[in-house]
Amino acid sequence: MSVSGTVISVFRGGCAVVFDEQIHELTLTGSSAVQALVLAVGDEVTFDPDRGVVESQAPRRTELARLRPQAGRQRRTGGAKKVLAANMDAVAIVMSVVDPPFRSGAVDRFWLAAVEGGLEAILIVNKVDRVGQGELPDIVEAYKSVLPVFETSAKGGQGLAELAQGLRGKRTVFAGHSGVGKSSLLNSLQPELRLATGEVSSKTGKGRHTTTAAQWLRLPGGAIVVDTPGVREIATGSLDEDALEQVYPDIEALAHECRFRDCRHDTEPDCAVANAVAEGSLHPGRLESFAKLREEIAALASEARRT
Ligand code: GDP
Ligand code: ZN
Repeated sequence: MSVSGTVISVFRGGCAVVFDEQIHELTLTGSSAVQALVLAVGDEVTFDPDRGVVESQAPRRTELARLRPQAGRQRRTGGAKKVLAANMDAVAIVMSVVDPPFRSGAVDRFWLAAVEGGLEAILIVNKVDRVGQGELPDIVEAYKSVLPVFETSAKGGQGLAELAQGLRGKRTVFAGHSGVGKSSLLNSLQPELRLATGEVSSKTGKGRHTTTAAQWLRLPGGAIVVDTPGVREIATGSLDEDALEQVYPDIEALAHECRFRDCRHDTEPDCAVANAVAEGSLHPGRLESFAKLREEIAALASEARRT
């Protein structure tokens, strides 16, 4: 018999799969094609539940990946990218307003990784209980014109109902640095099914060493939310300027009004983007973070050409 299930954690030589609300621990044995599979959380696989072996992997709809474009490192690590989550619909970028402070550079990097993998992005601004009314960082307002933004307090409960609504019917992977409140948010969303990979009963579990358990949660309304440790360290190594444009739709819209078609929004005269910043209609942080990411992409691209 063969059934299909969803991978919720991956370890050396095997994976844990959820099927029929049960976790099955499977090995990658048998054909060399199966042994060579590189699975990620969210992958769909067919497997034989009696033998506990993976039989095949379905093609992916989306991939959230950490890219490693540097040629030198690529040779050493034996691969250009590491897929952290497959078949997700959205990335929820989680930031806190304080402790740690809100960082738009980090938001934009996670968003870029989402765009490149074919996922939507939403922004969760957590710990709003820590600041007074109207004291959110200005840049949060700027994000409201380009992303769905949810202001939440995992502690006080603010915004959680709206967030649950926003997650409905989708598969969302949570991304954000340590300490922003991801675990607290997931705990307060009150899942109807919670599978933590730490709970996997170890039939085959030799050589498995998960430091932090990934979580796979189903919320009312069919939402699936995934928290997987690797996503916390995501950093883009993108070479893709087109993806960059999608992360700065506000700047792109203004760029049509610049005098020069190839305006870099740097020191050019009649730059609509610089004018918008001067007038206060575009937050300066948006342009700063755009310029920084563009520079990084250019540096990576020229390094890739040299090597
Ligand atoms: P994670 O590393 O992103 O999973 O963050 P945690 O959920 O472990 O939270 C880090 C710290 O922030 C903990 O001390 C939490 O109690 C605290 N925290 C999380 N959410 C909130 C919140 O909405 N308000 C406040 N005041 N503290 C929070
Ligand atoms: Zn310009």
